Order: sequence, then C-alpha cells, then structure tokens
Amino acid sequence: MRRHLHVRRGDTVEVIAGNARGVRGRILRAMPQKQRIVVEGANLVWKHVRRSRQHPQGGRIQIEAPMHVSNVMLICPNRDCAGYDKPVRAKSVARDGKTKIRACAKCGAEIPKAE
Ligand SMILES: [Zn+2]
Repeated sequence: MRRHLHVRRGDTVEVIAGNARGVRGRILRAMPQKQRIVVEGANLVWKHVRRSRQHPQGGRIQIEAPMHVSNVMLICPNRDCAGYDKPVRAKSVARDGKTKIRACAKCGAEIPKAE
C-alpha cells in the first residue's frame, strides 16, 4: 500500500471530482493510511450535535468531511506556466545535487511546502 500522498497538509488544492468539484481550499488534515484528506470548505456535511456547554441548544453544524485524495490536484504558482492557476500534476525532481523538491509537471517550477 502506498504510504504517501501527492499533496500535504497546508497545500492549496482544487477539487477536480465529486460533489465539491471546483472548490479551492487548504488541506486541513491528511490521512495517508486511508488515502484521504480534509479540504477547507469542501465536502461539507451537517453534523448533529448534542447539547453541551459549547452548544447550549445542541443543533446542526457544518463540518468538512474527509474525501479521497485522488479528487484533488495542486495548483501551479508560476505565472509563466501554461498551467498557472489551474490544477497541475506535481513531480519530484532532484535539485542542488541531492535534495528532491516538488515541481510542476508542466513548467518545472517549485511548488513550495506551506508548512
Ligand atoms: Zn507550472
């Protein structure tokens, strides 16, 4: 089983499939074992909460539910790229001798890690 994802926590991604298609947001949580992620503002579900100190009336709140990682793609940050501001695939390339960086598959620009 694969143990890593093509995206990581903090990345801004676009949802390319499923009900939340077209939504852009930051990755709040990554679960590599389950191949799932939680994207800010995407795949919202109503959660019914019991009465508590935080919710004195109880009620329904909207929260992001996990979705499959294959539903999202990274966005290229390079303005000169054909894929700028569009979903692109990322590849891992060796730079400066040894260290590998994530790069846009179209233009080769580095896609920085957010955290
Ligand atoms: Zn690019």
